Amino acid sequence: MRPVDKGTAPVSTYTNYAEALPDLEQRLGRYCSYCERYIATNLAVEHVQAKSLVPALALMWSNFLLACVNCNSCKGDTPVTVNDYLWPDSDNTLRAFEYRTGGVVAPHSALAAPVRAKAQASAALVGLDRVPGGAVPPTQRDLRWLKRFETWRKANNAHRRLSQNDTVELREQIVDTALATGLFSIWWTVFAADENMRSRLRAAFVGTCPNSFDANENLQARPGGQL
Ligand SMILES: [Zn+2]
Repeated sequence: MRPVDKGTAPVSTYTNYAEALPDLEQRLGRYCSYCERYIATNLAVEHVQAKSLVPALALMWSNFLLACVNCNSCKGDTPVTVNDYLWPDSDNTLRAFEYRTGGVVAPHSALAAPVRAKAQASAALVGLDRVPGGAVPPTQRDLRWLKRFETWRKANNAHRRLSQNDTVELREQIVDTALATGLFSIWWTVFAADENMRSRLRAAFVGTCPNSFDANENLQARPGGQL
């Protein structure tokens, strides 16, 4: 899950939460904050704490993220105690999950048990753990698992082509493909050994939290975050 930095609130107050959508898209790109897919026209302003349960936060920038219909409908109006989960706008959530061959996403095996439980809870909250044959299978309309599967294949092919013909132009083209696809975490993982590509990807995906990375594009603890 890409760690993002929304920055300070663009306006002192919104009169309707939907007004925040263009601001969020400008700051974070048109990507679901949870599943990371590129969604051209159907993203929604996501309330971390459901507006029906905590109306005082319904118009607060600090309570906003971006979500696709699948992540939104899985999360629904689930009551959220913020500290029971990990969040892409306050934690280095790229350290929370492992993206593996075939598009599998799971809490990172290196995490200490308490943080691992929070990563698991976060995945379950928005249904990122839903895969065919899993404990909770996805609905027919939930193809997030398939997008991860396809993106893994796409990124792996790009990695192979780059190893055969390493040019600046191909690197730029791969970044353009990644931007059009989303799933930052998968591209980041596939290009784990390529600091130049990691740097390009991080810079290209608008809103990626800069202080979640050290000078060599390795992950580091996010200041103020849980990991
Ligand atoms: Zn999503």
